[in-house]
Amino acid sequence: MAARVPAASAPVRAYVGLGANLDDPVGHVRRAFSDLGRIPATCCVLRSGLYRNPPLGPADQPDYINAAAGLDTGLAAEALLDALQAIERAHGRVRGPVRWGPRTLDLDLLLYGELCRDDARLTLPHPGLHRRAFVLYPLREIASGLVIPGHGPVEALAARCPGVELEPVMEPR
Ligand code: ATP
Ligand code: MG
Ligand code: MG
Repeated sequence: MAARVPAASAPVRAYVGLGANLDDPVGHVRRAFSDLGRIPATCCVLRSGLYRNPPLGPADQPDYINAAAGLDTGLAAEALLDALQAIERAHGRVRGPVRWGPRTLDLDLLLYGELCRDDARLTLPHPGLHRRAFVLYPLREIASGLVIPGHGPVEALAARCPGVELEPVMEPR
């Protein structure tokens, strides 16, 4: 009889929110999409358009460029967060004293499958996800029908949170 081989665990669909507002933010976000595709055991399978929008937090900083990505990953959630933070550092991200201050790149883990957790290192779903237009609009673009655990369908959340100030960034042809 053939030995029973345990099935490799299926990849988990994770979603990442990208944001940048320093030093050519469009370039940082575009390069970050490529960097996400190079995370070990991970494929970047969904990529939204880019949106320009006013800053969250201190108003005396440049507008942000935001986007969302869908990943299929074999990494555990913490290991994926480590990989995202390594990419932020490679883009010159410096965490200053000001909350929501300007940055070359922010990569937030929005969802990791349907996992819900809240501890010092990682909160899932991301705590701002359900009320931020600059996250919900790009997420809706790549994941129509997605249900955010504890909050509901991405379409309903986006409709409740008008993103009138979000301006799509034209991609070069
Ligand atoms: P916000 O999270 O409100 O968008 P921010 O992105 O500016 O703010 P950061 O400085 O990037 O915040 O992250 C602060 C800490 O948040 C990180 O050290 C990380 O451990 C923690 N964190 C908790 N949950 C998450 C998550 N889902 N994605 C990314 N970081 C998270
Ligand atoms: Mg953030
Ligand atoms: Mg962050």
